[in-house]
Amino acid sequence: ARKFFVGGNFKMNGSAKSITDIVDNLNNAKLDPNTEVVIAPPALYLSLTREKLRKGLEVAAQNVFDKPNGAFTGEISVEQLKDAGITWAILGHSERRVILQEDDQFVANKTKTAIDGGLGVILCCGESLEQREAGKTIEVVTSQLKAVADKVKDWSKIVVAYEPIWAIGTGKVATTEQAQEVHAAIRDWIKNEVSTEAAEKTRILYGGSVSEKNCVELAKQADIDGFLVGGASLKPAFVDIINAKQ
Ligand code: 13P
Repeated sequence: ARKFFVGGNFKMNGSAKSITDIVDNLNNAKLDPNTEVVIAPPALYLSLTREKLRKGLEVAAQNVFDKPNGAFTGEISVEQLKDAGITWAILGHSERRVILQEDDQFVANKTKTAIDGGLGVILCCGESLEQREAGKTIEVVTSQLKAVADKVKDWSKIVVAYEPIWAIGTGKVATTEQAQEVHAAIRDWIKNEVSTEAAEKTRILYGGSVSEKNCVELAKQADIDGFLVGGASLKPAFVDIINAKQ
């Protein structure tokens, strides 16, 4: 069985004070021991978060660069993250693909660098509303994943996050059927393009307006192995989402 996985993507939110409060809340909460929990604060607060967060809960960066060191102003390397006790990176988030114009190749290069360096990667994919309405959802999502599969053969440290862009930060969550359909297609694609073993073992998370209200139903779907949570990860209700699997 795949271990349920819940990630909290704080995006560009929080301060030393508010992030300390979130960490204290998680440290004191009763969390399902069968759920893997990873939180991703802004880069500036990674060390603070790692120092305060209790053992057993992990910390992710929201990005990492694809070079080991050098003249890359503003970037952070895999080794620097590991030096700070960071074990995961979120890569390919739609906000970076759309706003920062990261393409599939760049995301794939960064994923390869992170995996080769020993980090786990939460690899995001997802279609726009226009692409969904044109019937291109599966094509878009699998082509995003293919760029990575061409470069990374070992998927044991990859967690896929399906995040339809139209559901992110909109309060418009995908229906359980819409999410399950795409998750099943992703798993099928992994089986054909990576391996049967990877298809069985890879956690596929859903992200996009996940809340304490919709998480239990979503978690019941056969191919939904957890969540990548934005807005709700900043609130005490994040604990209910961590504990969504019944
Ligand atoms: P929201 O949960 O705020 O919709 O954000 C989802 C997301 O983008 C997580 O990476």
